[in-house]
Amino acid sequence: MVDSPNFNPVLSTTRASLLRKAEHPDPLPLQLPRGLARTAQVLICPYCSQSIQTQVKQRSGTLTWLACVGICLLGGSVGCCLIPFCAPALLDCEHYCSSCQRFLGRSAYITL
Ligand SMILES: [Zn+2]
Repeated sequence: MVDSPNFNPVLSTTRASLLRKAEHPDPLPLQLPRGLARTAQVLICPYCSQSIQTQVKQRSGTLTWLACVGICLLGGSVGCCLIPFCAPALLDCEHYCSSCQRFLGRSAYITL
């Protein structure tokens, strides 16, 4: 077939990819929830389609690091710059599905 004078590798590749797409269509893009609060939310998980209450985990974020640097610049003594990492109000909240444990979104004061 390759030695045939009518063989066009571009058309052959395109036809093969179209046939593959017809057999396995692309999945729909997931719509992750937006505007999550800092507390657990009841919603439908876009991954497992279950009605769940999110699990919230607190992680250091941009505001945490800015507060840390600010304390250092203001002359905070050794260790004082670590206080923001223990202050829940300065931490970001990440929401996870309680059923499939996948990441669903983040609630942060500052996002870059
Ligand atoms: Zn889920």
